[in-house]
Amino acid sequence: MAVSTPHPSLAPLPAAAYAMPISAIAQILAVDIDTGLPTAEALRRLAQYGPNDIGQVGHRHLARILLDQLINPMILLLLAVSAISVVMGHVTDAAIIGSIVLLNSAIGTFQEQKAEKAMASIRAMAIPTATVLRNGQQTPLSTTDLVPGDIVLVEAGNRVPADIRWIEIQRLQVDESLLTGESLPAFKTSAPLKAADLPVGDQTPIGFMGTHILTGRGKGLCIATGSQSELGKISGMLSTSKAGEVPLKERTNRLTRQMTAAALLLCLITFAIGVLHGEPPLHMLLAAMTLAIAAIPEGLPAVITISLSLGALRLSRHGVLVRRLPAVEALGSVTVICTDKTGTLTENRMAVSYPKPGDAILTAPFLQTMRLCNDARLAGEGNPDAGDPMEIAMLRFALFQQEDPATVGPDWKRLAEIPFDADRKRMTTVHSRDTVRLISMKGAPETILPFCQSILKDGEQLPLTEPIRQALSQVQETLASQGLRVLGLANRTESADHASPDVEAIDEANMVFLGFVGLEDPPRPEAKAAIADCRAAGIRPIMMTGDYRVTAMAIGRELGIYQEGDSVIEGMDLREQGRQWLADHAAHTTIFARVSPEDKLAIVEVLKAQHEFVAMTGDGVNDAPALKAADVGLAMGRGTDVAKEAAALILLQEDFSTIAKTIKEGRIVYDNIRKFVRYMIATNLGEIATMLLAALIGFPVPLLPVQILWINLMTDGLPAIALGFEPEEGNVMQRPPRPTTESITAGGLWQHTVWVGMVMGLCVLGVIMYARSSGQAAHYVRTMAFSALAFAQMGHLFAIRSEYRPLWRIGFWSNYRLNIAAGITVIAQLMLIYLPALQPMFHTTPLSRLDLGICALPAVVIYILVEIEKYARSKRQHCV
Ligand code: ATP
Repeated sequence: MAVSTPHPSLAPLPAAAYAMPISAIAQILAVDIDTGLPTAEALRRLAQYGPNDIGQVGHRHLARILLDQLINPMILLLLAVSAISVVMGHVTDAAIIGSIVLLNSAIGTFQEQKAEKAMASIRAMAIPTATVLRNGQQTPLSTTDLVPGDIVLVEAGNRVPADIRWIEIQRLQVDESLLTGESLPAFKTSAPLKAADLPVGDQTPIGFMGTHILTGRGKGLCIATGSQSELGKISGMLSTSKAGEVPLKERTNRLTRQMTAAALLLCLITFAIGVLHGEPPLHMLLAAMTLAIAAIPEGLPAVITISLSLGALRLSRHGVLVRRLPAVEALGSVTVICTDKTGTLTENRMAVSYPKPGDAILTAPFLQTMRLCNDARLAGEGNPDAGDPMEIAMLRFALFQQEDPATVGPDWKRLAEIPFDADRKRMTTVHSRDTVRLISMKGAPETILPFCQSILKDGEQLPLTEPIRQALSQVQETLASQGLRVLGLANRTESADHASPDVEAIDEANMVFLGFVGLEDPPRPEAKAAIADCRAAGIRPIMMTGDYRVTAMAIGRELGIYQEGDSVIEGMDLREQGRQWLADHAAHTTIFARVSPEDKLAIVEVLKAQHEFVAMTGDGVNDAPALKAADVGLAMGRGTDVAKEAAALILLQEDFSTIAKTIKEGRIVYDNIRKFVRYMIATNLGEIATMLLAALIGFPVPLLPVQILWINLMTDGLPAIALGFEPEEGNVMQRPPRPTTESITAGGLWQHTVWVGMVMGLCVLGVIMYARSSGQAAHYVRTMAFSALAFAQMGHLFAIRSEYRPLWRIGFWSNYRLNIAAGITVIAQLMLIYLPALQPMFHTTPLSRLDLGICALPAVVIYILVEIEKYARSKRQHCV
């Protein structure tokens, strides 16, 4: 039955698709396998079957976030305070505390939701694309837009984007361990199987969504997407990927616990002293409990997540996608960047610069090999150039130079191939025309020459003697010393009758060497400055390249990565000499050449063992273990899905200067988190000091529960978020990396908070004494103390915008959000004092202008003292 309109039961998977011929499945799915689906039909199917994803892991809904906010020991404490207030007859207080709890939870929910949204948009940007055939055109498409009936093209490094029935395959091996638990690669086939009820692992004509292509390539027909795929069906059973823990958050949790213990102790003391001074015990219990709430920095974890998410969003604007949030913080500790060369340090704009046109080695077989042992496609019919830039350059060169199109023409049919991979460092293809079979090879010279027995010279085939090999090695060195990427070309022809009938078993022996190709790939101009920046920041850039040592040195020298006296290690030495030798040499090595992905893993592990904090770039399937092992794995946007999944960050802009910017951003985020910690702990200590000092002197309780809660609300709210927007400290890339073991309160932060807290307490006490001496009523005194403490926070806030530079050097408006947040806070405070409706709620009373001015004095004192402290610090550290 011919199906002209899509059958309503296109999905799920037709039973035993592995047993059906492709033509039958294509008919059921109403698709022409040569042209793919028409776009309109694909959109219709997308509406019918939904997007091709199996649901977001770890996404929390608004209600869940709110609930998490409410089920919190802090809230329970607050509820206890409300209850005591009711017992004492302060019903309004209880209501206000209740409202503040709600407001606090609302702020918390808003902050968390913002963080979740940021993460969701980052995740959305990281959705991989697949090459799909639609309307006869190959188009890259987000994998979520795939529908049953789509024709998909995949190759090594891709994740299979949906369940697909293979149409054509080339040496396709897939890692299906995700579904089968089998770690050995699964070999795929395209012919239907004559069997029934096969388990997933035996269904060789099917590619399963989520599995990884290890080698080869394939074209397949999409038979099930999303929840209809095998993976979708069992996704509920799969252990969900662990949401990355934030080590910084863990460390601050510890800090929170310590502060909580200290606060509780101090509260106990305050309570005891108050009672001894004759304050009513219930009253003092309430005050002490409120103080406990005020002193516990419960907002810290949420603010850290927000700061990291803000950093992640800023990074996305620089072309960096953050896959794991903790990586943003980790960036600040990087001491070594292991970067690859092509595309990161160089432009990946390849051009053949050797041989020159007219050169004698430009023989027909030479150009033929350049053209046939090549997977690139040149632009045409509206499509741009496609493929590896190096192969594009070679193809363009060959077509331009070719004199006799018939010699190298497309009538050579490709029978088989061994694709290029970073371990073999060469590519081999087998072609046939009439009765002739041709084997073409190109790749790193030292991987080609061992297979060559002869050389083509002046139209003659001569034996490849030792003197000729040495002369060739000289030519290679000369080309490489100019920074050229050097490849060797070789071929062999044989009669099809004599050839092995099994083209898959390609015999690479007895090749004829045809000559070298030298490709120019200019270093990126901006990389040089970025490397200098990294060095100034105490970070050592290391080049880890698959390229030849001399080429790598020439580029490294030009960019400043390699300096005279540095060592250069080759992958082969590394494998021969072992780890200990590598460990002995790693400290002064700046170039690792001809390295394989396994070597990269060894290098990363050795560097880590030497207490380096390693960032590493990679793109290939085999780079995944090293990317995972590195402290910060950076995958290239053009890289394989496997590499991207192993990495913490994905670089869409692949140049080295983006890596330097990324590290800088990580340092800024950490600086800003420290600012918030400084701000919040000092506020808490200021509150404790005020209460404790007042109790010691025998003054009545200076601040009421609602007032303390209000001050806390202000510190955890807008100013906290605004600090996350602080621009960089001037010296952010001039100081050494932060040791990973360093506490968030290192560098004098702890001492700072203690003295600022004490000074705040003393200032507020001074204000209280002044008010009492002028004979003011208790209400008035409290309003002054409350306002003085609230304003003191603002003085502190502006002073700690930078750890080293005074406010006038960073520019008052350089973080306008902070000014707005401070403005709102001050206006809100004035409203509490002067709006009659709010006065009974916060137990305030209007202050005279003079007294309001007096309340502002602690802010000025704190500001000036902190500026003096900063001046002393910057003098000590020579980093104004
Ligand atoms: P980096 O690792 O810094 O990006 P690279 O791109 O030179 O450097 P690889 O891609 O691993 O590293 O290539 C290593 C060597 O393999 C190259 O120097 C070249 O000699 C050879 N080579 C690269 N691409 C191909 C290819 N498509 N076909 C044949 N040989 C290749």
